[in-house]
Amino acid sequence: PTRRVLLEGASSEKKGRVPLGVKSRKQKRILVTGGAGFVGSHLVDRLMERGDSVIVVDNFFTGRKENVLHHMGNPNFELIRHDVVEPILLEVDQIYHLACPASPVHYKFNPTNVVGTLNMLGLAKRIGARFLLTSTSEVYGDPLQHPQAETYWGNVNPIGVRSCYDEGKRTAETLAMDYHRGAGIEVRIARIFNTYGPRMCIDDGRVVSNFVAQALRKEPLTVYGDGKQTRSFQYVSDLVEGLMRLMEGEHVGPFNLGNPGEFTMLELAQVVQETIDPNAKIEFRPNTEDDPHKRKPDISKAKELLGWQPSVSLREGLPLMVTDFRQRLFGESKLTGG
Ligand code: NAD
Ligand code: UDP
Ligand code: UDP
Repeated sequence: PTRRVLLEGASSEKKGRVPLGVKSRKQKRILVTGGAGFVGSHLVDRLMERGDSVIVVDNFFTGRKENVLHHMGNPNFELIRHDVVEPILLEVDQIYHLACPASPVHYKFNPTNVVGTLNMLGLAKRIGARFLLTSTSEVYGDPLQHPQAETYWGNVNPIGVRSCYDEGKRTAETLAMDYHRGAGIEVRIARIFNTYGPRMCIDDGRVVSNFVAQALRKEPLTVYGDGKQTRSFQYVSDLVEGLMRLMEGEHVGPFNLGNPGEFTMLELAQVVQETIDPNAKIEFRPNTEDDPHKRKPDISKAKELLGWQPSVSLREGLPLMVTDFRQRLFGESKLTGG
């Protein structure tokens, strides 16, 4: 409430300044595409906390209005329902471009990564905004180098079932670098490794959300393949800190942002059992095509140039997500009758 009063009372808002008593830093106008999604909404929280003015553009494909509901009515916040595949005219200082169907269940046949990124780069060019792309560890494909450093060019199948996402993000990186070199846009590229936390989509098929929802619903945990494939799981607040450091810093990247702690899917299932229900059963299912065998970020570059490294371990972060999932699965469903 204190912040609200300060901000509402601020005649300085129109001049683009943070009201006296908050901070003397110049208030920034920031666009977050995909800001109603999992990562985006946590980023928006931090930017709002800092006193910036935030515009979220989202088509609610996988995002939810509930994720940003607490900012509604704040004069520093604006939510626009819009598909970034269509052009848009806005005036901002920085663009965090997160809009993307981010899960295998959703990303097939969607041109967001290419056309949406092109539009947001066109926007950045017209208004001279700094542009941050949230790329992905999937650009490394089924990696032949382990752990993966930014210098590794990847091993991606261009015609496989995952290609729309992998190649879409690779193209997005290419576009960003072309606009950087050709049009002088200040770009920043983050390659994000598997991230989890509160507000994650419950039924989008990603492994952490699947296991947590399954354990809470007393269903068996579905391990695909032999469960020996590995991933590295990063808590969302660590990622957001990394994205903000990258945006504010002087380095284009790409930067790996991920937690180097590496787990097999069977180990992850065990951690979920320990956290939620030691009696949860495990059920093996056939794996999807082209599933990367292992993945772990080399974060030396981010450590050195951004002074960043994750601080939340899987065993610390998972319970925070479980609390949120429990409430969304059982708390709210009663209220909505669903
Ligand atoms: P998410 O699905 O929760 O968020 C994506 C948001 O983009 C959603 O709110 C969705 O409604 C919106 N969106 C999708 N298509 C859009 C379009 N055409 N126009 C406007 N909005 C659109 O996913 P997330 O996990 O928050 O991912 C955010 C970004 O981070 C994505 O670019 C994703 O590729 C990247 N990333 C995430 C992870 C992870 O593990 N969470 C890993 C690597 C990369
Ligand atoms: N674009 C946009 N908003 C803007 C400026 C551009 O959505 O404020 C879109 C524009 O519609 C185009 C894309 O961004 O499809 C690329 O723009 P750019 O100016 O780089 O390319 P051009 O229009 O010259 O092909
Ligand atoms: N996976 C699993 N059970 C599930 C969902 C996924 O064992 O219910 C596996 C999947 O095969 C993959 C890993 O978990 O090897 C990570 O999958 P996710 O889709 O979360 O992320 P990505 O493959 O994009 O890294």
